[in-house]
Amino acid sequence: MKTLFKELTEKTVKKLKVPDFDHIDLKKVSYLSWNDKGSGKRYIITEYKDKLIGLQGTCKNSNQKGICTFCNGISEVGIFMIEVKGDIKGSYIKRGNYIFQDSVSCNHNLTEKDKLDTFIEYILK
Ligand SMILES: [Zn+2]
Repeated sequence: MKTLFKELTEKTVKKLKVPDFDHIDLKKVSYLSWNDKGSGKRYIITEYKDKLIGLQGTCKNSNQKGICTFCNGISEVGIFMIEVKGDIKGSYIKRGNYIFQDSVSCNHNLTEKDKLDTFIEYILK
């Protein structure tokens, strides 16, 4: 597995007010993901084109097994949705796809990051 978090130091993590990731080896994960209980939002941090980017969306549990967009594994999936600016000023459109509820096992499955990159491209376009 490639080292994807070259820039992600403990200091960066602290600045982003993310949960305690002490138990996670940042050199071994392709992305970080957590739920913010207060707002109900799902956050994803990953490296894209050598830059760290953060995605903020919602992740609704589908209560069923499905194929994960990031790792292509089969497990309990949720629908991760992000609001992006639409073509018309002030309008928003939603983009998203199925991803694992459990980001730890997702990261275990992720040997290639190309599908995750494709997802980010799709979100950001
Ligand atoms: Zn996955």
